[in-house]
Amino acid sequence: MEKLFIADEKDVRKGYTMDVYFERTKKILESCGLSDTEVCAEITGSSLPRGWKWAVFCGLEEVIRLTEGLPISISAVPEGTVFRTRTADSVRVPLVNIFGAYTDFGVMETAILGMLCQPSGIATSAARTKIAAKNKTVLAFGNRRMHPAISGVLDRSSYIGGCDGVSSRIGGDIIGQEPIGTVPHALMLLMGSNDAAFKAFDRVIEKDVPRIMLIDTFSDERTAALEACRSVNDLKGVRLDTPGSRRGNYKELINEVRWELDMNGHRDVDIIVSGGLDEVSIAEIVDTSVSGFGVGTSISNSPTLDFSMDLVEKDRRQISKRGKFGGRKYAYRCPRCFEMGVSLRPDDTISCGCGCSMEMVEREILRNGKRVGKERTPSEIRESVLEQLRTVGEL
Ligand SMILES: [Zn+2]
Repeated sequence: MEKLFIADEKDVRKGYTMDVYFERTKKILESCGLSDTEVCAEITGSSLPRGWKWAVFCGLEEVIRLTEGLPISISAVPEGTVFRTRTADSVRVPLVNIFGAYTDFGVMETAILGMLCQPSGIATSAARTKIAAKNKTVLAFGNRRMHPAISGVLDRSSYIGGCDGVSSRIGGDIIGQEPIGTVPHALMLLMGSNDAAFKAFDRVIEKDVPRIMLIDTFSDERTAALEACRSVNDLKGVRLDTPGSRRGNYKELINEVRWELDMNGHRDVDIIVSGGLDEVSIAEIVDTSVSGFGVGTSISNSPTLDFSMDLVEKDRRQISKRGKFGGRKYAYRCPRCFEMGVSLRPDDTISCGCGCSMEMVEREILRNGKRVGKERTPSEIRESVLEQLRTVGEL
């Protein structure tokens, strides 16, 4: 079989995916005897896409796994931190600081930024979707819109941002949960009828998988919802994936299906909706009796965040390129309004405009190539995001 166009883990670690100019820089530094120049490089974000006021920092665990063993040290704000990119006086907030010889990690810049920029965008979209869903269930179904090589990254980032479940096996393994899914319309089409497909699902699929039937293949959703109730004893829910061209007013359709289910004694059967949903369309239907949303493209195709890596110290002296602020800095954040601050000291007192005192939020995560502290699970990181979203909801 011919090789696919993807990098495997070995390729990423050995720098096969890096922008070639880093390789050239390394070669030049080595030939000039500057391999040992110690630097501090900071990773900061510029303005956020789509006018977002805040974002969720995601992907740090993969950066730790990539850099473990290198002779460098890293400090960073914890993964899952809800952050803003600039302070009131426009100094960019360092989310990550890397210390060591530039030639030991410069070639990793492409990989490190990619591991943070895209996951942080996805986690932010997931968090915004979870807020739009007013805490109802949100399932990440967007893998099919992106390259399969990154399914695990997409699912982990969606989950950390607040999604309740993911659809791929690899994503499920990474977050430590069974993946979630019903069946595609293809099953009903192949089996010839809703009834045959619903019964076959119920007979074949393991009992611990919730019975959620897709009801928009052939007939009116109300009719098919009742059919699902008749075909499956322990029916957990029905899913509407009705295309935009057919659904007219989605809110009305959901209300009709709910009414029909209730009238026939099926108040405990949930309604899950999917199909081209985003934070705007979810906000329009969230106050109906719908229990959950399957969300695809709008999360997986989230804009990436525009992080960049810049040198701010060379041999412990501050340096910077034009337009950047030199010096090793510490990130601070207000615990109440999430306004960010920056200081050259870790023990500074910075008061926030809201009257609170800011806290220094950076933590050491790698010391001379060794992980500092315990690895946090995706569930722990997600919990911390959800906790912060309760504050963000007020912003
Ligand atoms: Zn504040």
